[in-house]
Amino acid sequence: MFKTPRSFSYSSASVYKQCPRRWKHKYIDKLPDPTGEAALVGTFAHEVLEELCKEEPSLRTEARANEIAATIWPKIADRKDFKNLKLNEDSQREFRWKAWEAIQGLWRLENPSQVEIEATEQKLSTSLSGVPFYGIVDRIDRDEDGLVVIDYKTGKVRHENIDQVLLYSAAVNEKTGEQPSKAKLMYLGNREVSPQIIETDVSEDLMAKAVTDLSDTWNKLKHALDSEKFETTTTPLCGWCSFIEHCPDGIKYIRERADSGRLKPDAPARAVLGI
Ligand code: SF4
Repeated sequence: MFKTPRSFSYSSASVYKQCPRRWKHKYIDKLPDPTGEAALVGTFAHEVLEELCKEEPSLRTEARANEIAATIWPKIADRKDFKNLKLNEDSQREFRWKAWEAIQGLWRLENPSQVEIEATEQKLSTSLSGVPFYGIVDRIDRDEDGLVVIDYKTGKVRHENIDQVLLYSAAVNEKTGEQPSKAKLMYLGNREVSPQIIETDVSEDLMAKAVTDLSDTWNKLKHALDSEKFETTTTPLCGWCSFIEHCPDGIKYIRERADSGRLKPDAPARAVLGI
């Protein structure tokens, strides 16, 4: 019987929902799960925007964001996971450019000088329907209707991620007694995807639905921990799973996909399995 985790985040719940075995390798076995290039681009953009949003409204300009990016870049370049990417000079320039495009995406979505920001990188730790929920909210604004809970995204648009900001809204409500009025995902965009906002008015029903879903996943996880049984769920995402070499089901599935020409050329599993 494995120990129950002390906290449960939206990303931990998402990993469990995607594949219970992947969750076990990541959170119990603690096998290496290096941050990929796309996620690191997102980290860089997040850190710049976090600092920018701490500035006085009139200083939240693209020029200031550029200065902040220059001060944060050495820290990113010094990270072990960045060094592991082994990017040459041209690729590093391309990496910085991708991060800058994401940062600039903010001005295509809003004028950050005209928003009232209450908090950035707000840590939330609270019980939601008995689940020890933990999360870090990128930004909490206040507009004419009340609090707005915001998460920045740098990847593909996924509407289901709205549950993340609804859970943060439930946690804010639990902690402060003030129910946020809106929950918002700000997709900063990239070369293929235009920046866009996915948002919803926050209602008790929507928060309760997101919390029930979290609670269901938590209960399934507790059952798996008690029984020490973590099923595999094979999907095309196995091609990007850091733990594929430890997973016979995943290896079989990915080999079948490769044999039938359905494995994407950029899937990292190709190199791991020598395909
Ligand atoms: S390879 Fe696929 S099935 Fe195996 S742990 Fe990873 S995601 Fe799950």
